[in-house]
Amino acid sequence: MTVENKVVVITGASSGIGEATAKLLASRGAKVVLGARRADRLATLTATIGANAIYQVTDVANFQDVKQLVNLAYEKYGKVDVLYNNAGVMPQGFLREGNLESYQRMLDINIMGVLHGITAVLPIMEQQKDGLIITTDSVAGHVVYPGSAVYNGTKYAVRAIMEGLRQEERDFGIRSTIISPGAVATELIQSVDNRVIEEALQDLYDPKNSGSMNSLAADDIANAVLYAIDQPKHVAISEVLIRPTSQI
Ligand code: NDP
Repeated sequence: MTVENKVVVITGASSGIGEATAKLLASRGAKVVLGARRADRLATLTATIGANAIYQVTDVANFQDVKQLVNLAYEKYGKVDVLYNNAGVMPQGFLREGNLESYQRMLDINIMGVLHGITAVLPIMEQQKDGLIITTDSVAGHVVYPGSAVYNGTKYAVRAIMEGLRQEERDFGIRSTIISPGAVATELIQSVDNRVIEEALQDLYDPKNSGSMNSLAADDIANAVLYAIDQPKHVAISEVLIRPTSQI
């Protein structure tokens, strides 16, 4: 399986890791079907990529939106080879702040968004007896730190869900890959709730530091996604854990 001519649905494609992945895969001949909420960003990205990209405004917290995105891919190309569940938010804060609205948003986007993708695409992939579901998890799905308990919880949950998916679907020829990045300089910091935490993360997410020893570039993660897709059908990349070299 190489990426050329593969149909790849990507959520959270309007910036950061999703945008970089869309560009890389399309440049290698994939047909990318892009979803996120910001229509202007998706329109600009699609125009930049050209004929290999289409988009639909999608809120992953809404199952019908995700189903329509997956269906758009299937109706246009007659198959869905890869679903990349990448959309996520990180409104970090301390539990004592009790920000229930942020907790709910993380559950709805980071966990339910992934479940919506899986639920929408599995019938198609089971019928194809082929498919790859990739999800952006995180080092935060391996290590808990203060000010991040709920975000950590969502990323731990997603790793468990993806491992369950792997076990349940392997006999259908469906593979699953968890991509677990450390710090990547993207717009993700804009979703942080607590100003002290945001300040502490500022350097890691500064675009000037992208691709430094402390901070990965979105392209570094896109390369890992490409690696997982480029494997032959008998090779399942279960997880790729990627840290900037200096990260603990
Ligand atoms: P960005 O903020 O640049 O990208 C997040 C993407 O998710 C955007 O395209 C955003 O688009 C989309 N998104 C957010 N909410 C929704 C929603 N409800 N429905 C659809 N799309 C949504 O950050 P990253 O590229 O860094 O984040 C991508 C993933 O990587 C996330 O899952 C994040 O948790 C994970 N990650 C990031 C790390 C980092 O250090 N940057 C480290 C480890 C994991 P829009 O607002 O237009 O909807």
